[in-house]
Amino acid sequence: MMADLIQSCDVLVIGGGNAALCAAVTARRGGAKVILLESAPEAFRGGNSRHTRDIRHMHARATEYLTGPYSEEEFWDDLARVTGGETNEQLARLTIRESANLAGWISTNGVRWQPPLQGTLHLTRTNLFMLGGGKAMMNAYYDTARKLGVLVAYETEARELKIRDGEFLLAVVRRGGETHEVRAKSVVIASGGFEANIPWLKEYWGDAAENFIIRGTKYNQGRMLQELLEHGAKPVGDPQGCHAVAVDARAPKFDGGIVTRLDCVPFGIVVNQDARRFYDEGEDLWPKRYATWGALIARQPGQIAYSIIDSKAMGQFMPSVYPPIEARSIAELATALGLEPAALAATIDEFNRSVRPGTFNAGSLDDCRTEGLDPPKSHWALPIDTPPFCGYPLRPGITFTYLGVTVNERAQVIMQDERPAKNIFAAGEVMAGNILRRGYLAGFGLTIGSVFGRIAGREAARHALG
Ligand SMILES: Cc1cc2nc3c(=O)[nH]c(=O)nc-3n(C[C@H](O)[C@H](O)[C@H](O)COP(=O)(O)OP(=O)(O)OC[C@H]3O[C@@H](n4cnc5c(N)ncnc54)[C@H](O)[C@@H]3O)c2cc1C
Repeated sequence: MMADLIQSCDVLVIGGGNAALCAAVTARRGGAKVILLESAPEAFRGGNSRHTRDIRHMHARATEYLTGPYSEEEFWDDLARVTGGETNEQLARLTIRESANLAGWISTNGVRWQPPLQGTLHLTRTNLFMLGGGKAMMNAYYDTARKLGVLVAYETEARELKIRDGEFLLAVVRRGGETHEVRAKSVVIASGGFEANIPWLKEYWGDAAENFIIRGTKYNQGRMLQELLEHGAKPVGDPQGCHAVAVDARAPKFDGGIVTRLDCVPFGIVVNQDARRFYDEGEDLWPKRYATWGALIARQPGQIAYSIIDSKAMGQFMPSVYPPIEARSIAELATALGLEPAALAATIDEFNRSVRPGTFNAGSLDDCRTEGLDPPKSHWALPIDTPPFCGYPLRPGITFTYLGVTVNERAQVIMQDERPAKNIFAAGEVMAGNILRRGYLAGFGLTIGSVFGRIAGREAARHALG
């Protein structure tokens, strides 16, 4: 394998997730000799893409797999709302329009879809769900890449890029303790964000970052992002920004995926380690509310919080992989969670006293709220009074970071002097900040990576063979 690597190729793809595979397959179909470097071992290949379930795409009508149409304008409005308008409209509209071609392309490359399911995500009209999720999708793509003749090198990390005057010359890579140089006529950087690089996160979050849980792969260290920036690529996106949700504190440090996320927050109260509430648990509906809780917990002492519910809440939310900690009394629950029993009892008594009668409705912004409580609970406020009482320990779960490199509509990396780098292309999370600088639209990470992966693969092959 390494002998092959030392040989030069037309297109070098760095990364092993959705964007990288879309680029590699497209470049290979364009006639290029392609080498793909994945720093993870084969069993863990596929980056964060293997944790995904669904992809958002524009379409004109309902299909076997989608319950209705999703137009360019509606898609654009959704994006404008979540980003507060902070997006590159030209690239965003390109992504939306090109997404109309994704369903067919993705299935041509071996991915199968799943008929709409009933659930709490309300995405069955706008998003296609992959049968077997992102893991099956990545397996299908790797299989297609192998059949087409893409050379995949696992456990091979790109460490340095040699770039001169905006032109990529070679990559320095590490494999099995050895260092090698790989030359290519063009390179596609599709190596994700830097969310697994705790020292880098600490630059913005301080020691708090030690207590973060990373929902995806530990291999997204951001080394290629850093290399591009050091070589003068123009940054995009908030360097401090990351998408973070509340996950079960018992989750593994990396790669817990979707099953550790907790959706119980609006159905009870959330307290910190002093058993005090700190934010309105009933502020908004999913998906608006869910991405706020990671950052809220990150700002609490010890970066830990506890969701407290009673038996009335059970069954209202999607269960996570860990069972709740259950008790017959609040005092018993506090002890089990490591909280001061008197303090938790006082917080719950105060909360229960402030709850006003209303008609509970989990699916809408109902009128069950508190009065005279600081912070308030604006919706779904019911007294916590019916045993058994349950608690979940929560930590910030980081999904991805927003910092990336600027690209143009050909996926070329833009340098600080505004000139496009000749033969350096970027796709996926490493450039998603051009389109999504803040906020999130479910299923849009894969859309950006698939659209720009295909563009980058096409353009990289064109440059190499042209
Ligand atoms: C739990 C979870 C659930 C999600 N669910 C969804 C969903 O349902 N739909 C959706 O659209 N988005 C979802 N996302 C977001 C989505 O995962 C990303 O937007 C998308 O996967 C990014 O694709 P990518 O190819 O850019 O990066 P990744 O898939 O993360 O791939 C990056 C790859 O680069 C490799 N790499 C990194 N550095 C190097 C290096 N120096 N040398 C060689 N290789 C390197 C890594 O090993 C990895 O293979 C989810 C994310 C998480 C964490």
